[in-house]
Amino acid sequence: MKKKDKVMFIDAQLNRLYPEPEPPLHFDSVYQLLVAVILSAQCTDERVNIVTKDLFADASGPHEILALGEEKLKGYIRTCGLFNSKAKNIIKMTADLLEHHDGEVPREFDELVKLAGVGNKTAGVVVAQAFGTPAFPVDTHIERLAHRLGLTKAKTADKISADLKKLFPIERWADLHLQIIFHGRQVCPARKPRCGECELLEVCPEGKRSLKRLDK
Ligand code: SF4
Repeated sequence: MKKKDKVMFIDAQLNRLYPEPEPPLHFDSVYQLLVAVILSAQCTDERVNIVTKDLFADASGPHEILALGEEKLKGYIRTCGLFNSKAKNIIKMTADLLEHHDGEVPREFDELVKLAGVGNKTAGVVVAQAFGTPAFPVDTHIERLAHRLGLTKAKTADKISADLKKLFPIERWADLHLQIIFHGRQVCPARKPRCGECELLEVCPEGKRSLKRLDK
């Protein structure tokens, strides 16, 4: 199968399997989304949603989070992992936001990544999910599937993102980002991918290799 056909197949299958994917993190404002995405590093979305439910009930916006302070914030996010650095970054990011942007999360990717604790992946998720700006942020699931499916050989998230952007149409980037993550979680986890029941098997080099190994 030609690469173009393979890409179209993956695109169509993922769209069929996970139609109209909803962002998994819960939020009522762009600021809350930004905080939730920062918290999601090395933490499950389910855990983040549990944590932010209490946090946002008590401190829903930047003024309230800043008033909470780093130590009290740690109390809310303690179960999220890396909570010391996340608390520090969220307070610093919030102070930046209030000082330079009147508390409004900027729409521009380049402005977002200037905020403390906001890297390319976080900024990509925020611009895509909050502002509908095309972006293809790469997390660990997307990196793993892009390699297994033979879509890229790149090693860094930025280069993988650039390769995926070249392959898929721009209007599909935001949904595909979520659809690949969902497929990674449900069918193709890091350990013990379920290739035998995977709808992408016929175009997946790693899946075919792994089934051959099992056959021997
Ligand atoms: S065939 Fe296997 S390795 Fe390939 S995407 Fe599916 S589960 Fe993952």
